[in-house]
Amino acid sequence: MLKAYATFAQIQHDLHSKKITCTALVKHYLANIESKKHLNVFLSVYADEALARAAVIDEKINRGNAGKLAGLVVGLKDVLCYENHPLQASSKILDGFVSQFNATAVQRLLDADAIIIGRQNCDEFAMGSSNENSAFGPTLNDIDNTRVPGGSSGGSAVAVMADMCQVSLGSDTGGSVRQPAAFCGIVGLKPTYSRISRHGLIAYGSSFDCIGIFSKNIEDAALVLEVIAGADEYDSTVSQTPVPAFSSLLSAASEKKYRIAYMRDTLQSPALQPEIKTAIEKSLDQLKLDGHSVAGIEFPLNEYVLPTYYILATAEASSNLSRYDGVRYGYRSPNTTDLESMYKKTRAEGFGKEVQRRILLGTYVLSASYYDAYYNQAQKVRRLIREKLKELLKEYDFIITPTTPTTAFKLGEHSTNPVEMYLADLFSVQANVAGLPAISLPLGTDKIGLPMGVQVMADDFEETKLFHFSKQLMNLA
Ligand code: GLN
Repeated sequence: MLKAYATFAQIQHDLHSKKITCTALVKHYLANIESKKHLNVFLSVYADEALARAAVIDEKINRGNAGKLAGLVVGLKDVLCYENHPLQASSKILDGFVSQFNATAVQRLLDADAIIIGRQNCDEFAMGSSNENSAFGPTLNDIDNTRVPGGSSGGSAVAVMADMCQVSLGSDTGGSVRQPAAFCGIVGLKPTYSRISRHGLIAYGSSFDCIGIFSKNIEDAALVLEVIAGADEYDSTVSQTPVPAFSSLLSAASEKKYRIAYMRDTLQSPALQPEIKTAIEKSLDQLKLDGHSVAGIEFPLNEYVLPTYYILATAEASSNLSRYDGVRYGYRSPNTTDLESMYKKTRAEGFGKEVQRRILLGTYVLSASYYDAYYNQAQKVRRLIREKLKELLKEYDFIITPTTPTTAFKLGEHSTNPVEMYLADLFSVQANVAGLPAISLPLGTDKIGLPMGVQVMADDFEETKLFHFSKQLMNLA
């Protein structure tokens, strides 16, 4: 039996010193997947393929020509295209759909000799905060099986938490990587919007969508980001900004002292679980003792962030999801009589309740009579939020908030009240509304042993600095 590796560097060390092989490593993860099947993490496990690829990469390691990610076993949220493999955004409407090509991020992982182990459960079309909106049933939190893992990338978070793979790729439109990372006690990174190509990522809210990374530590996230980020001819919105060598920059120890702001109202929010407040205050005190400057700031626009997100994200979703019409992809209702009934029945039977609610909301805010009152207005507020945050980030290096108002809640606890569920994103959507990079870091556990998370947000394309500081923050006593 292999142990659970805390870092990919240790895996590589053991691979190169012949203590282990990729084959043994893949078998180890497969055994964990098998023994924790009840968590409902994977929708497909590519066992034979992963083993075959492991053998090829073991050979490459022997010959000394293996890629940078040789031996990194990765899981993919069910929103990322992996050629000739099923893909359905945890939705019935994509039943039977098979990817025709690799997402750019997936292609880059493969080119660097990573091994893909399977497709992970999530909320349908990445809409949700608990993984309960999946057509395949919820994923369970590994610490307490009566609780949710967070969402929408719940399966991807639990896979890393329960050592079913070393790293997962998820997507973060309003917090879907950071929020489950906090609920599962791991690291969750949402890079700057446009840092990673969205080619091959199923669209939800295109102006918010980001591929994100789940890992057990900062170094693994930095290395994976360095491989998958950067210009791509298939995505005209991706940034041309050069991608720094995050991982080697990170290996140079930095004791740099930073200017840190925390948002006072997030800590005073009545929705915040008191233990999370105490833990964040303790970290802030330690940062001060460590020589960083720490200041409380007001951000009066905070109350508008969540409504702005839910207006714009649903508007974009209603447009993006219009392509699932029963003609081009996946499921088609068998009970139809003509073209119109085919569209209607396919969409009514294929989409789950939450996705239907979002499409209706989005269609409403885009409708001729309400476009100005909602959509246009929300666009203006979005610009204001971004401008104000950018101003603050001239004065401060980072803005700290809790990642989530509470620790992992019980299955079913919020599923009858959508607004309660949307509140789970209270602190995470800000970074998506503004397009800024943000990371969730583990911050101990509450009284009943559930993980808590702290979120750090930085200015556009400042991931290097964000990684350096994250390391310091994780190393605090
Ligand atoms: N929970 C948020 C939503 O339901 C965010 C989802 C996400 O980031 N994909 O929209």
